Amino acid sequence: MLCFHHPDTALHKPPQFLVRGQPKPVPEKPERVEAVMSALRARGDRLEQAPDAGPAARAAVHTPEYLAFLETAHARWVALPDSASAVIPNVHRGPDMTSYPTHVVGQAGFHMSDTACPIAEGTWAATKAASDCAVAATRAVVADGERAAYALCRPPGHHAGPDLAGGFCYLNHAAIAAEEAVRLLASQGKPPRVAVFDVDVHHGNGTQAVFRERDDVFFVSVHGDPNAFYPFMAGHAHERGTGRGEGYTLNLPLPLGTDEDTFLATVDTALAAIGRFAPTVVVLSLGFDTFKDDPLAAFGVTTPGFGHLGRRIAATGLPTVLIQEGGYAVDHLAANLTSFLDGFEDTLRSTTP
Ligand SMILES: [Zn+2]
Repeated sequence: MLCFHHPDTALHKPPQFLVRGQPKPVPEKPERVEAVMSALRARGDRLEQAPDAGPAARAAVHTPEYLAFLETAHARWVALPDSASAVIPNVHRGPDMTSYPTHVVGQAGFHMSDTACPIAEGTWAATKAASDCAVAATRAVVADGERAAYALCRPPGHHAGPDLAGGFCYLNHAAIAAEEAVRLLASQGKPPRVAVFDVDVHHGNGTQAVFRERDDVFFVSVHGDPNAFYPFMAGHAHERGTGRGEGYTLNLPLPLGTDEDTFLATVDTALAAIGRFAPTVVVLSLGFDTFKDDPLAAFGVTTPGFGHLGRRIAATGLPTVLIQEGGYAVDHLAANLTSFLDGFEDTLRSTTP
C-alpha cells in the first residue's frame, strides 16, 4: 500500500479538553501516529512523506476566515492575559449571532462547536500536514492511477465543517480529498462522482455539512445512534441532504452496543447504496473507534472484524482513498489497521486479473 505521512502530524498536543464539564486528558494523542507508523513499517508498506499541497485544496472546503483563525488563534490566545495554553471557547455562536467577531475569544466561539477541539501550539501545523497527506493520497489514486492509497491524517477531520472545528477535528481531510478528486476527475474528462463512506463510530457531521447540497458527492455513514452519542445534533436517518443534494446523504445509525455482525451487515447495506450511485472514486473515512475496547467504545468490532471490513471495501472494485479518522485504543491501533489493510489487499490480489 502506498501510504502518505508527515512528521508534523505529531505536533498537536493539547493538554486537555472538557467533557461533561470536567477537564480530561485528550485521547486523540500523538502516540497514535507512532502506532500507525509501526504497523505500516511492519507490513512493508511504501511510505512517502506528503509534500506541501498548497492552500487551494483546503480553500475548496473551508472559508478564508476559518483558515486564518486556525492558523493564528493559538498565538493570539496565549498573548491574552490569564489565558490557558490551548484555545477552548467560553462563548458559542447562536442562531441570532451573525456578526463576525474580531477578537480571538469571539472567533473561538464562532468557529468551535464544542469543547473537544482545543487549539494548541502545534495544532495548525499538524492538521495542515494531515490535509497534505489526504491530498497526496488523492492525487496518487486519481491522477497517478494507484488502486488505493492511505493517508495518515492526525488529528482526524470528519467533524470539521466549512467554518467549524469540533470533536478533535480542525480541517476536514475526507472532504478535502473528495473535492480534490472531483476537481481531478473533471479535468480528466471522467465522471466527477465521488462517494465518501464514513465507518468511524461517530457520525461525520462535518463532511455531511460540506456536501449537504451536492449531488456529485454521495455521503454515507454508519455510526452510533446520535440520540445518545456524539455529535447528537446530526447523523439521524431522516437527514438525507437538501436541495440538489436531496437523496445524496445516507445515514445508517446503529444502537450503542451494536455487535460486529450487525455492523458489517450495515456496511454491506451502505456499499450496495454506493454501488447504485456508481462513483468513479471512493473516499473512506476510516475510524477504528468501532473497536470493542476503544475508550469511546460503542460497537463491538474485533481486530479480525477490521479485516472483514477491508475485504468488503476492496470488493467494490473502485479506486479508494483511505483517510485515517478516529481510533483511540492506542495499544490496539497497529493491529486493527494491519488487519484492515491485510484484508483489503488480500481481496485486491484475488480480484485483480
Ligand atoms: Zn470517532
